[in-house]
Amino acid sequence: MSVPPTHLVVFGRPGSGKSSLAERLGEEYQYLLISTGELLREAVRRNDTLGQRVQGFLARGQLVPDDLIFELLEVHLQVPPERKVVFDGFPRTMGQVPLLAKLETLHGFQVDAYLEIAVSRAEAVARMTGRRVCPACGSTYHVRNNPPQVEGVCDHDRAALQTRPDDRPEIVKVRQDDFDAHGLAILDYYQQHAPDRYLHVDGEQPPDKVHAEAICKLQLAQAAGT
Ligand code: AMP
Repeated sequence: MSVPPTHLVVFGRPGSGKSSLAERLGEEYQYLLISTGELLREAVRRNDTLGQRVQGFLARGQLVPDDLIFELLEVHLQVPPERKVVFDGFPRTMGQVPLLAKLETLHGFQVDAYLEIAVSRAEAVARMTGRRVCPACGSTYHVRNNPPQVEGVCDHDRAALQTRPDDRPEIVKVRQDDFDAHGLAILDYYQQHAPDRYLHVDGEQPPDKVHAEAICKLQLAQAAGT
């Protein structure tokens, strides 16, 4: 299987599976995975100045202000010339779109494909609010798609399953509202400004099919560009 084009942005509403896809592509094609969500969580764990300033936004499920995202990426982004980049969770507002262009100039790369993993809000909400994790071993379940043998209990160690704080219904609502308010405009923008690099994947399929469709579309885009 030939490699997908270099430098990707993966978009999708929270619960679309975009991060799992970005991670899988990262492992398969040795991408440098740049997940702003993960960088922010790391900053909170380090409890550095930036971490302290973003902590409250993450806890409430709110978007971190653009100036702090600028600070995060300007400090933490290093792109070795031989690496391909996959952005997960960035840009997230129209205000961050010029920052991506600035980073492309600064680091000398160009995004080859904008990959939208499309799921409806209802499906994303059902996925997020139905997710359960085991606090002991980290196993993940879903009340509808992947239930444990005994309701509410981990199959491996019988610990009581929990809902992740950011999967609580009130936080899920905030995150979905943010996507409707900001994310849809970004999808529109790239569809208008880079139609030949804009790829749409049906995210409501099983994960392996989403992955296969993404690879297929990336290969077609690569072939069309060569
Ligand atoms: P994620 O792991 O991508 O779902 O992000 C987790 C949380 O980090 C989000 O709910 C936001 O609070 C914050 N976040 C991640 N990326 C961004 C971004 N590009 N702009 C603003 N906030 C972000």
